[in-house]
Amino acid sequence: MQIVKTAKRMHIVSAGARAKGRRIGFVPTMGALHAGHAALMKRCREENDLCVLSIFVNPLQFGPDEDFAAYPRDKKKDVLLAKKENVDIILYPSAEEMYPAGSLTTIDVREITEPLCGRARPGHFRGVATVVAKLLNIVTPHVLYLGQKDAQQCAVIRQMVRDLNFPVQVAVVPTVREADGLAMSSRNRYLSLDQRRQAAFLFRALTTAQARIRQGEHRAARIEQLIRGVIREHTSGRIDYIACVDADTLKPRRIVAKKTLIALAVRIGRARLIDNILV
Ligand code: AMP
Repeated sequence: MQIVKTAKRMHIVSAGARAKGRRIGFVPTMGALHAGHAALMKRCREENDLCVLSIFVNPLQFGPDEDFAAYPRDKKKDVLLAKKENVDIILYPSAEEMYPAGSLTTIDVREITEPLCGRARPGHFRGVATVVAKLLNIVTPHVLYLGQKDAQQCAVIRQMVRDLNFPVQVAVVPTVREADGLAMSSRNRYLSLDQRRQAAFLFRALTTAQARIRQGEHRAARIEQLIRGVIREHTSGRIDYIACVDADTLKPRRIVAKKTLIALAVRIGRARLIDNILV
């Protein structure tokens, strides 16, 4: 496994692989790797000749009051996990490498960045779209692997790839969960023991909703109300949003039908947790 720190070096490696007809898969992350990231690496490994993982805590996607400084960083552990998953290359750029002084370009995907997490995190998806566009240009992968846990991020990146003609296929990997259903996240480590116990009710609320939908309740307002009820009853979390939306456009749905995304964000203690299910 190689650790590559510059765009120039990565270009050389990717160009060499492409010249030999090798298929390149790419998994972008912010590190603090866990089994959710490992699922992306596994898929990438299985489906490609060259498996590239990037680790970069992207300052551009954090708001001024967010956790950029506190975001967990553990290079040693990340390298070990990447090795275990047979990653070929870790792209590990510095902030200066990614955003040299004088950078003036960002990418704004309109409309689908506005609801859900976009409302509470202005500028977040500009940071995400910009860094992913840069990473795609640096790595030039055939396939990009993203996690369903960050459903809005998937929708935004898919839209950007379409709108800007990036020659890459986007693959979305199902959410990996803890035994009690909590979606794995680097931010779960912000939770105290009691908060961690409460956090399991986010997924419990979503599965309760899913069961109710199967029983015939399709009114989005009722489903959202049911989820709110479970979270209020079992957690002291502050609900940021609970929404039934179209999985592609993220526009609100009044009726829960095929391709409806039920998504939520809840603050428990210091952690802002997100989760979703696709109906
Ligand atoms: P992050 O390091 O949190 O920016 O995540 C990097 C990638 O891993 C993103 O595509 C995430 O959606 C994905 N990811 C994070 N947590 C999970 C999870 N529990 N299951 C599946 N994918 C995940």
